[in-house]
Amino acid sequence: MTVYLPQNPNEASLWCNTATENPVSDKLNGNLQADVVVIGGGYTGLSTALHLAEKGVSVVLLEASRIGYGGSGRNAGLVNAGVWKTPDYVIEQLGEEAGSRFNQALYDSPDAVFDLIDRYQIDCQANRCGTINIAHSASAVGYLQDRCDQLRKLGASVRFLDGDTTRSISGSAFYSHGGILDSNAGTVQPLSFVHGLAAAAMEKGAQLFQESPLLSLEREENGWLAKSTKGQVLADKVVLATNAYSDRNSQDVQESTVPVFIFQCATAPLPNEIADSIIPQRQGMWDTQILMTSSRVDEAGRLVMSSAGNLAGFKKLVRQGWMKHIRNKIYPQTKGLPWQYFWTGQVGLTRNKILRIQLLAPGVFAPAGYNGRGIGPGTVIGKHLAETLISGNRNEFPFPVEALYKERWRRTRSAYYEYGTLGLNLLDRF
Ligand SMILES: Cc1cc2nc3c(=O)[nH]c(=O)nc-3n(C[C@H](O)[C@H](O)[C@H](O)COP(=O)(O)OP(=O)(O)OC[C@H]3O[C@@H](n4cnc5c(N)ncnc54)[C@H](O)[C@@H]3O)c2cc1C
Repeated sequence: MTVYLPQNPNEASLWCNTATENPVSDKLNGNLQADVVVIGGGYTGLSTALHLAEKGVSVVLLEASRIGYGGSGRNAGLVNAGVWKTPDYVIEQLGEEAGSRFNQALYDSPDAVFDLIDRYQIDCQANRCGTINIAHSASAVGYLQDRCDQLRKLGASVRFLDGDTTRSISGSAFYSHGGILDSNAGTVQPLSFVHGLAAAAMEKGAQLFQESPLLSLEREENGWLAKSTKGQVLADKVVLATNAYSDRNSQDVQESTVPVFIFQCATAPLPNEIADSIIPQRQGMWDTQILMTSSRVDEAGRLVMSSAGNLAGFKKLVRQGWMKHIRNKIYPQTKGLPWQYFWTGQVGLTRNKILRIQLLAPGVFAPAGYNGRGIGPGTVIGKHLAETLISGNRNEFPFPVEALYKERWRRTRSAYYEYGTLGLNLLDRF
């Protein structure tokens, strides 16, 4: 059974209890030299390491905790295309040329995920059944129709579903207004996907170490020296893939995003007639409520739902109560059935809600700020970073590369989200 280090010892994650075996067991012990050192064992770091190793580049990856400890082992497992914001918004922010390249790279991102799963036969409950951005009210339909039109212009495989179809596809009368089905997307068991990426990277020759935190990174005459507890790695290039889980040793990256919590709940496997009535084709769904709620049903027939917020202290009671209330509203057929698992994870928000690829110093890249969407993006960014590190040419890299950007008022903004969502959890019941 996989050993997993939860953020809060009172939490139990469905994913760690049902994941495939973690293939990494070594800790760094001694001095190594490599072309590239990658810090962080989530999708971004592992995909970078895998794509480098596939091309015969020597690569060492250091993970402070267990691989998948960060967002990659905790998320909802919806392999979505693109980013939260619409393609037109991305172009507004980045300009026509850079925005179009960015959009295209990310709208193809489910292909990158499912291609790796096929190529390396990754056992991760992969289901390319599509995902649905579903309206919770008639007033959200216009926004979704516009978003769907923008996606179609990019060539995305999306179609707009009418209210009757969303009602039957979701198994919920609450969702009877419409939604966008992206049939190129799908779902995975997120931690098993991490384990599969790690196994593939090791098979190709990458050296992966866990419980081996980066303690310092210094420029030496002949490369970057990454020091850990019991060893060090000298490398020409560095990828700091620590994202929203950056710690004090990767503090610059930490300060480049605003940390926000998301919590998830999962039932025990549902009785067959109930499991068959909820999202019968097993798409992943997320809705347009101000307290956005996602739903999916896993391979064993467990309903998994998520929304914004942390579960620390008294907040756990409030959020658990709210989630029960919202579940009864959306899926009344589950009334009275208990939750079996509750867990949380952290995402990193950016000022303009668009991820950043930062260049901290020559040869030191730090992708961060995925704003809660990182399975496809992390995988694709790792692939493109590997290509750029090999070629030394950034012309083909589809994302703008910028200097470190430190978010302002991080703690205040984080508290605003935390307590704002808590207030809404309380108010929603009246
Ligand atoms: C609850 C939740 C639900 C989500 N749902 C979805 C979803 O359905 N679909 C989707 O696409 N995205 C989702 N996301 C977002 C997605 O999980 C993340 O964007 C993605 O996992 C980020 O991957 P990453 O590899 O960049 O970072 P991470 O997975 O966070 O990995 C960073 C790693 O760096 C390590 N680290 C930090 N400091 C050091 C150090 N000093 N030395 C060594 N290692 C270090 C950490 O331990 C961590 O393992 C969700 C996120 C959360 C939290």
